Formats: sequence, C-alpha cells, structure tokens
Amino acid sequence: MWRAAAVRVLRGGGAGAPRAASGAAAAQLRQRLESELEDIRGAGTWKSERVIASKQGPHLRLAGGGGGIINFCANNYLGLSSHPEVIRAAVEALEKFGAGLSSVRFICGTQSIHKDLEEKIARFHQREDAILYASCFDANAGIFEALLTPEDAVLSDELNHASIIDGIRLCKANKYRYKHMDMQDLEAKLQEAQKHRLRLVATDGAFSMDGDIAPLREICQLAQKYDALVFIDECHATGFLGPNGRGTDELLGVMDKVTIVNSTLGKALGGAAGGYTTGPKPLIDLLRQRSRPYLFSNSLPPAVVGCASKALDLLMESNAIAQSMAAKTQRFRSKMTAAGFTISGKDHPICPVMLGDARLASVMAEDMLNRGIYVIGFSYPVVPKGKARIRVQISAVHSDEDIDRCVEAFTEVGRKHGALP
Ligand code: PLP
Repeated sequence: MWRAAAVRVLRGGGAGAPRAASGAAAAQLRQRLESELEDIRGAGTWKSERVIASKQGPHLRLAGGGGGIINFCANNYLGLSSHPEVIRAAVEALEKFGAGLSSVRFICGTQSIHKDLEEKIARFHQREDAILYASCFDANAGIFEALLTPEDAVLSDELNHASIIDGIRLCKANKYRYKHMDMQDLEAKLQEAQKHRLRLVATDGAFSMDGDIAPLREICQLAQKYDALVFIDECHATGFLGPNGRGTDELLGVMDKVTIVNSTLGKALGGAAGGYTTGPKPLIDLLRQRSRPYLFSNSLPPAVVGCASKALDLLMESNAIAQSMAAKTQRFRSKMTAAGFTISGKDHPICPVMLGDARLASVMAEDMLNRGIYVIGFSYPVVPKGKARIRVQISAVHSDEDIDRCVEAFTEVGRKHGALP
C-alpha cells in the first residue's frame, strides 16, 4: 500500500492532486464535455467570472488588479451587503446560534431566529405568514408543484425568470404562456383557462433584463374579472420599490390583490442568501408539509438569517433608504438619455443600455472596466438576438459623482466604438 502511495507521489498524484476517472465511459464523457465547452466559446457566449478581492459595495478591488473600481453590476440595491450593522448582526447570530443546523427545518433545523425572520417578512409585506428557503430559486421551484394540480392552470409571462419557468415545469397544472406584459393576450389566455378549477397568474414584479415593471394593476383587474389568483416574484423590487420599499404591489397600490409573493434575501435585503414565500397562512402551512426544496434541504445558516433580519429592521425603522434609490436612478437615466443612449425600462434601478450588437456590448463593457467602471454586457441567449445591451444597476450607495463618472465613461466609450455619433 505504501508503495502505491509512493508511486503516486512520484508521479505527482499524491493527496490533493486531481485524479481523472479512468475507463472508456469517462473518456467519452470528457470528450463530449470538451466539445460542448468549445461550442459555447465559439458562439461567443462564454461567461467568465471576475474575482473580487474586497467586500461587495459601490467600490471594489478586483483580484490581481488595482482598487477604485466603481461597481454597477450587483443587485446590492440598497447598499446593505456590507452595511456595518448587517455585518454585526451576522456575527452575533453566528456566535449565538452557531455555523449551521446540519438539518432540514422539520427534523431539528428550526431556531427561534428562523421563526422571528418569517414573522418579520410577513409583517414587512403585510401578509399572514412566510416560509424561508435556501434561495428564491428554491421558493419558485417549490410553490407551483405544491399548490397546483392537473385540475388547475398557471398563466405565466413569457419573460419570467428561469426559476419560475422551472418551477412551473415541475407542476402538473395546465400551462399557459402569455406575451410579455401583453394584457390582451393574458385576457385571451384567462378566457381559455376558465375551464380549470383554479387559475394562477405568475409574473416577475420587475423584469431583471429589461428593468420594466409588470402592469400589476391591470393584471389584478383581469384576475378579478376571471376569478384568478396573482403570484409575483419580487426579487428585483423588495426593499426599494414603493413608498416604503414593500415592492411592486405597494408601488402600484395592489397589496391587497396579490395573493402570493416570492422574493429573495440575496439582493436588496443584505445580499447574503435565502428566499421566501409570503401569503395566506394555509398556503404557508401547506408549503411546510409539501414543498420539496423546503423539506429536503438544509436550514438557512444563522449568520445569513441575522443579515436579512437586520436589513428588514433598517427598512422598517425608516423609509429613507428605500426612497434614496429613486433620485439616483433618475440621475443616471436622464443623463444617459441626454447623452444619446437608449435606456430600456422605466424608473427602475436596472438600467439596460441598449446597443443591439453582441460584440459591441462586449467590447464596450471591457473598455468601461479599463476606465474603472464595472458593467456587464448581455447578449443572446440571455436576451433575444439583436438586443444586446450593457446592464447598469444603480445602488442607493452610489454617489452622484460615481454616477456622473459612469455616464462620462459611457459617452467616451460609446463615441470610440461608434455607438454614439
Ligand atoms: N427570481 C428572480 C426574478 C431573480 O432575478 C433571481 C435571481 O437572480 C431569482 C428569482 C433567484 O433568487 P436567488 O438568488 O435567491 O435564488
């Protein structure tokens, strides 16, 4: 045995060195994967990851590079990801409740902080109850299957987030897809779906690729007319849309008409991780019994619960943070429009700078980074062909100077690459 180990060490195959699986099947798999990876590179859709060497925030230091990068591509809408009180709350929760539960909630994974956070989320959204998940992806994966049967129907906006699409795939309800924010099409689909026992309209509250906001008032009117329920995914709204940051339903005055809200703790609410569903108590009770990502996955770690809990405290104490977003967003959108760019969406801190051409989006984003502005280009298949863009995300903690520097860099880079005259 020692001899085999010695030979491995001599061949550079000691403990810690990667071991390639042997055999024809493994070789065939490797070949197939390498060819698929090559296809992705060839199609120009390879996503590389930049390594950040500092905390999340408006100013970053990239690994191997200098500091002073202004960050415009995180979902850190309120700047709470590195807020000192949020960090302190995480440390306190870690010390008091430990690293994690090593258990799912219903076995021995529920601590008082999980119950407190669920109660706080329900209070924040003015709903009856809430249930935590490891992510909003999980909340979306769990809800449709638990709630809907083959007797029911779900009507989904065609541009809904991938996690809603996957969640709907997992359920056995009848599926209808309506054109993006097209109320005529939704009405036609609702008429078709009248034959089913229950109808659920599912939409993102704010769409993350376009920065547009679902017409919730109209959706709720149609839902009332055709006796349907409304579900919204508020990942890009919770914490900052509406006068008190409650989200799209507050912004559009329909908090009492939307039945189910799913959202994330991984964006505006501290940015650590986690997701939830909030809504009627019997629904939450049912999810605790039936929702598979809840039943079969570990409880949220205490430090993560501590972050989100503190973020909600800050938001419930004062609406100043939530409101601070709007002026910053307005500054960026109006200055960029005046410079000659087309910004998609309206009044949302997601500000897609529409460029059309995929290569242009990619080279401009690269050149922006050379000027210390971190933004990301999106192209097909993440967005439709011919609709490539650079997505800029404004945060409440960007200074006016940060925003102006971003606009100046866009103007220079846009002229250089022919996106502006
Ligand atoms: N829904 C929407 C609209 C999102 O943008 C995201 C995250 O990108 C998710 C759900 C998933 O959220 P989480 O990161 O909590 O899994």
